[in-house]
Amino acid sequence: MRSRPAARRTLDPIEPAASTAPIGPRTEPLMRIASPFIGLESIVAEHVPLARHTWFKLGGPARYFITPRSVEQLQDAVRRCVDFNIPIYVLGLGANLLVADEGVNAAVFRLSDDCFRVARFDGVRVEVGAGVDMQKLLLRTARSGLAGLECMAGIPGTVGGAIRMNAGTRDRWMDRVVSEITVCEPAGLRSIAGADLPWGYRSSGLSDRSVVVEAVLALQPGDTADMRREIEERLLVDARVFVASFDRPNIRYRIVEKREPREQLLRFIRDEHPNEAGIVYCLARNTVDDATMP
Ligand SMILES: Cc1cc2nc3c(=O)[nH]c(=O)nc-3n(C[C@H](O)[C@H](O)[C@H](O)COP(=O)(O)OP(=O)(O)OC[C@H]3O[C@@H](n4cnc5c(N)ncnc54)[C@H](O)[C@@H]3O)c2cc1C
Repeated sequence: MRSRPAARRTLDPIEPAASTAPIGPRTEPLMRIASPFIGLESIVAEHVPLARHTWFKLGGPARYFITPRSVEQLQDAVRRCVDFNIPIYVLGLGANLLVADEGVNAAVFRLSDDCFRVARFDGVRVEVGAGVDMQKLLLRTARSGLAGLECMAGIPGTVGGAIRMNAGTRDRWMDRVVSEITVCEPAGLRSIAGADLPWGYRSSGLSDRSVVVEAVLALQPGDTADMRREIEERLLVDARVFVASFDRPNIRYRIVEKREPREQLLRFIRDEHPNEAGIVYCLARNTVDDATMP
């Protein structure tokens, strides 16, 4: 049985601002007419609906939506936010966030540029950017015969979000494989050994002021066939959770058995839930078809 997702978070401010504080520089009132992000316009968009960027497709606009194209730009933008008293939030895939319809009067950072989505393999050591999609990383490590991330099968999100949330199953979490992380903080970049983080259930103990930029994962040699079996089994459990969550009075559903072949699962969804097929089928397809190893 998979662990249930942790309680959904709202976007956490990294630099909390007093709710009534205007956005603007702390020391020079005349600067208020100036944009805080002069020179960074190419990576800063304004009033961007977050529904486009969250897993649940919910959420109003972000005052500033920042997609840095380098670590230096990330640092620069974070510094400007601090200087201009703009609260900072980080968004992964938004799989563990609920964003309010009224939006966020803040800077929302997303590490979706290619420079944050790189994975370098060196034996059992994997250096990976925080913006990497966890399901893609899982499949790549498993295909390369590297074990340790199977517990992440079917858990949507980025590497940064998974580390921040210490995501995983009931008994295996990210903390087991994180050897080191690099975080961007208002004071600059900092490396932290995984062993020095106060990991807990669905928590890395990371400060709200820390943006995870990249991580070093320490994996182990593993058998690809075994890993494939475990991953597929976990994906089917996820599919069961999705289907079972359609708990409406006029919907008949049954719990899909853990080892039920995926063809049977998909037939069940198509044939027995024709009215709900849009959502359920789409979720099942993402987890069962798209993410299953060929
Ligand atoms: C269908 C479904 C099933 C799920 N099952 C599980 C499960 O079995 N186990 C489990 O643990 N979780 C589960 N989750 C929750 C979610 O998938 C995980 O928490 C995931 O790790 C979130 O990653 P994300 O990139 O989407 O983070 P987001 O949801 O975008 O953010 C989550 C938190 O991490 C912070 N964050 C994101 N990126 C960074 C970064 N680079 N640096 C610093 N902070 C960052 C955000 O500010 C926020 O506080 C499930 C969610 C769904 C929708």
